[in-house]
Amino acid sequence: IEKAAILRKKLGIHVSGLNIPSPLENFEELSTRYCCESYILRNLAALGFREPTPIQRQAISVLLSDRECFACAPTGSGKTFAFVCPILMKLKSGSKNGVRAVIICPTRELAAQSTRECKKLAKGGKLKIKLMTKELSRSGDFMKMACDILVSTPRRLEYAIRKRKLDLSRVEYLVLDESDKLFELGYLTQIDFVVKACSNPSIIRSLFSATLPEAVEEHARTIMHDAVRIIVGRKNS
Ligand code: ADP
Ligand code: MG
Repeated sequence: IEKAAILRKKLGIHVSGLNIPSPLENFEELSTRYCCESYILRNLAALGFREPTPIQRQAISVLLSDRECFACAPTGSGKTFAFVCPILMKLKSGSKNGVRAVIICPTRELAAQSTRECKKLAKGGKLKIKLMTKELSRSGDFMKMACDILVSTPRRLEYAIRKRKLDLSRVEYLVLDESDKLFELGYLTQIDFVVKACSNPSIIRSLFSATLPEAVEEHARTIMHDAVRIIVGRKNS
């Protein structure tokens, strides 16, 4: 515990919540501490990622310990991998049982970007990652599709659920990326709708963002239970 506190202090990681797992000291810990499959480590090496960024160190260990979190760290600090890595590790092999993780992004561009990043890290593994396109949201039938991880904007997701072509009742991970923007853009009702559609009681929800306005945190608290709060740097920088 002492060691964790020293590492957090050194890296500017602020946490609140009970029993928070210690941050990763390095990427090797993914295998020594959490039995990470080798393809992920290979991809990390190929991408030239030498060590985890502060938000990755803390958010990855929190999510791998099955804890919900809201994480706030500056733009460009590697938040995508902070949620993608634990999802890839936890889902392990692909299933034919429908969508198991949903990543919500505020814009189409950000959704496309997150999908690309996700695919880079998933290369060589068995998990299928899909970007929700306009086409897919209108006429795709997710019941007949192999898709483990779905990346989408709130509107397209809502549309597909309402058309009954997408069932989120087996979703194990729900991520709200750039959650400050999601709330700013007024997606509150869509997000609540999606949160309800993800009816699996053991779902792990997380929220990632560059700023953590009071209103966002307040709303997040109504959605999540026993969440760990992780702040890297200043809260609203
Ligand atoms: P954020 O979502 O926090 O704005 P991104 O997840 O988009 O940041 O990552 C920003 C860039 O940093 C990306 O190009 C990504 O590939 C790179 N990156 C992520 N993690 C690491 C790491 N551990 N080491 C080096 N580069 C990284
Ligand atoms: Mg991001």
